[in-house]
Amino acid sequence: MRRPGTRRLAVLAVSAAMVTVGAAAPPAPRASGPAGKTPVAVGYGGAVASVDKGATAAGIEVLEHGGNAVDAAVATAAALGVTEPYSSGVGGGGYFVYYDARTRTVHTIDGRETAPLSAGSDLFLENGKPLSFDDAVSSGLSVGTPGTPATWQTALDRWGSRGLASVLRPAERLARDGFTVDDTFRSQTAANETRFRHFPDTAKLFLPGGELPAVGSTFKNPELARTYEELAQKGVGAIYHGGIGDDIVKTVEHPRVDPASGWKARPGKLAEKDLAVYRAKEQAPTRTSYRGLNVYSIAPSSSGGTTVGEALNILEGSDLSRMSEAQYLHHFIEASRIAFADRGRWVGDPAFEKVPTKQLLSQRFADSRACLVKDDAVLTSPLAPGDPYHPAPCAKGGKAAPTTYEGQNTTHLTVADRWGDVVSYTLTIEQTGGSAMTVPGRGFLLNNELTDFSFAPASPSVPDPNLPGPGKRPRSSISPTIVLDGHNRPVVALGSPGGATIVTTVLQTLTEFLDRRLPLVDAIAAPRASQRNAARTELEPALYDSPLRGQLEAIGHRFSRNPEIGAATGVQRLPDGRWLAAAEKVRRGGGSAMVVDPAP
Ligand code: GLU
Repeated sequence: MRRPGTRRLAVLAVSAAMVTVGAAAPPAPRASGPAGKTPVAVGYGGAVASVDKGATAAGIEVLEHGGNAVDAAVATAAALGVTEPYSSGVGGGGYFVYYDARTRTVHTIDGRETAPLSAGSDLFLENGKPLSFDDAVSSGLSVGTPGTPATWQTALDRWGSRGLASVLRPAERLARDGFTVDDTFRSQTAANETRFRHFPDTAKLFLPGGELPAVGSTFKNPELARTYEELAQKGVGAIYHGGIGDDIVKTVEHPRVDPASGWKARPGKLAEKDLAVYRAKEQAPTRTSYRGLNVYSIAPSSSGGTTVGEALNILEGSDLSRMSEAQYLHHFIEASRIAFADRGRWVGDPAFEKVPTKQLLSQRFADSRACLVKDDAVLTSPLAPGDPYHPAPCAKGGKAAPTTYEGQNTTHLTVADRWGDVVSYTLTIEQTGGSAMTVPGRGFLLNNELTDFSFAPASPSVPDPNLPGPGKRPRSSISPTIVLDGHNRPVVALGSPGGATIVTTVLQTLTEFLDRRLPLVDAIAAPRASQRNAARTELEPALYDSPLRGQLEAIGHRFSRNPEIGAATGVQRLPDGRWLAAAEKVRRGGGSAMVVDPAP
């Protein structure tokens, strides 16, 4: 465990390589966004970026009191459990990526939810047919064993300098004293209102007095404050072996439904044993070399590291910095399409499937796939996967299968400390509002992460590594990323929510920043496209309504409109040793970036 006293001078070292990497340090705009949030901040002493002001402030508070990036990341995450309860919390899971400045190494924790030990590949089949997504989501069947509490404890034990009780304090206070309801919170509640009303415990908590919470009102969650208090006193054993866990199991096995709603909430089979055997897994990161940098991310069970990494390797041979905007987008779209074809065929939980992580990330395989990309024509989706074990240049591959559906929502936070450590952490309860089932008296929602499994193979003739299994982790798209220079010093770290669009958002933001040289906050704000081996590429309105669409359609692209893709945050190490924290300017009502000692 690191002691706060072990301060390192390395943090002040200026990397010559960094001067030429990424965007030049922009003058720091101090304009505040909605609700007084600031999407960019520059200074010393550490930095935090998240979607929420209260959560970012919780991390900054811990940094100010001498905590390190890991302590601050857990504090921020716990606060997001209060203010972003529909996207994260102790009822969910996530993936934690950590850069240790002392050893200049990257470590990761897979805190993904697991299926019950009793689950088989038929988890989501009824009478031999896959359930509809809607039927599956708001039910006990979709709930996996939460991994978030174990992730927090593992991270603190391994690299933190504070105990759980200490880092939970700001979040506990926030839950007790309340936060101000903004448009995003109200509209997310409204989007879930019908299904929240199916479950009286959820309605009681999130529809106070039977109404949608009013913008500007104070939302308090004393039950969650008590849950955090209990975790502070007893540790996360209260969830994996104790009373909170018992309540989770009861909720999943016997969902409490309002009989008047007529909702048939299928019970799940999560048992005490599932909680007792849960482990957050420390594992090696993925590493991809890109333009002389080292891009680290999360290995399977998330597809994030392999898919972003493969796409970067495909793009490595093209000089994106000199292309027109249309050609850049074309290459980004095609690389995403190919990487998604391979993701669908090859990535699942490695404890159950043979996953060719190394081969998917080999430059030889990427080159064999890049050869399919033409400047003036578009590949057809669904595109067949390649064979990473036997890369054959320009091979058309075997049978194609479409990408299976995944819900879209969660939250990402990025933290750096004064010692130069960095955390990039995406946590989730799967779709906005999770399973819609609140644990009675405990103040948090349960995840619906198991719907990230394929309910059935998308094509009967293509093997699917993402079918449910006992204790298996559903494939994720979460892609918390840390980029280091050639000397393994941090350049930038970022991530995003958005289900499978996470991969394309992270890829696009990285290339906008590293190749197109946008300042980080503008790379995050840039209008997004998302291609996931589908006939149409999704475009945010700013792209859909621009002349670029016509230019791309002229070479064969087809598009659909997506009102909003992702909600990224990041931190950048500036050449002079300052940190820049960046978040969304507009999406989700704007994010919140702060530093300990502002020095714009
Ligand atoms: N369930 C998604 C995944 O793990 C995360 C939820 C989201 O960001 O939308 O890929």
